[in-house]
Amino acid sequence: MRTRRSALTFLAVAAVAAVFSGCAINQAQEVDMGKNYSTQIAKQLRLVQDPDITAYINFLGDSLARLTERRDLEWHFEVVDDVDVNAFAVPGGYIYVNRGLIERSKTMAQVAGVIGHEIGHVVRRHSVKQMQKAQGANLVVTAGCLLSRVCDGSLGQTAIQLGGGLVFSKFSRDDEAEADAEGVRLMVRAHIDPHGIPEMFRILLDERKQTPGVTESFFASHPLEENRIAASSALIATYPAGDLKGLATDSPFFQAFKKKLSALPPPPKKKN
Ligand SMILES: [Zn+2]
Repeated sequence: MRTRRSALTFLAVAAVAAVFSGCAINQAQEVDMGKNYSTQIAKQLRLVQDPDITAYINFLGDSLARLTERRDLEWHFEVVDDVDVNAFAVPGGYIYVNRGLIERSKTMAQVAGVIGHEIGHVVRRHSVKQMQKAQGANLVVTAGCLLSRVCDGSLGQTAIQLGGGLVFSKFSRDDEAEADAEGVRLMVRAHIDPHGIPEMFRILLDERKQTPGVTESFFASHPLEENRIAASSALIATYPAGDLKGLATDSPFFQAFKKKLSALPPPPKKKN
């Protein structure tokens, strides 16, 4: 029940923000929405509070975010103290990476790849576009209405997923491809090896085969299949060899960050 109530609160924020915005959601409104979301998320999820962990994830995130055309956004990066493998972005530049995902990664480039992909969703305003589309169809009226539509599935692809008590957009395959492309572009510009993206996909898909439950929320919002590994590798291969030379795959700072994260007390077990 707690989960449902949390989802409702979250939806209420989304609906109010969307209704408030009129037809198109501008940047100031998007940022306001992101702030509201981040407040809800801070209440509903356990965020890692360790200052070293927060400092590193923001350092890594900013090294990519400052290279986007939306560098004017105030970007925020958080590690969620959750063993499930997940990462997500909310509008306005708030990116969340689960502890479970970081612990399964091997290199800095793999985590940078996931962050780059999530930044890509924000840069291309995928969630905002979905909200606008939903508004255009007069679907976002009240939280109750939106929730019932989500529950009976009538909102389809533009709908918002209920996962882990929160609500996330389900991205289309085109959105995923765009976010991957943006991630690869940012990584190359930041001198980080973009192969981290297909490598992390491989880890996620393997994990899904072994323990499907822990990756569920990631796959619910980010459709990911074998062919995306090939597609992102093919995209990387289109870059001039010179651009891909000498890019960083790992760093001692990342390994220290990972070690410190693993040494933190384990997150409390979930009730459900
Ligand atoms: Zn995605």
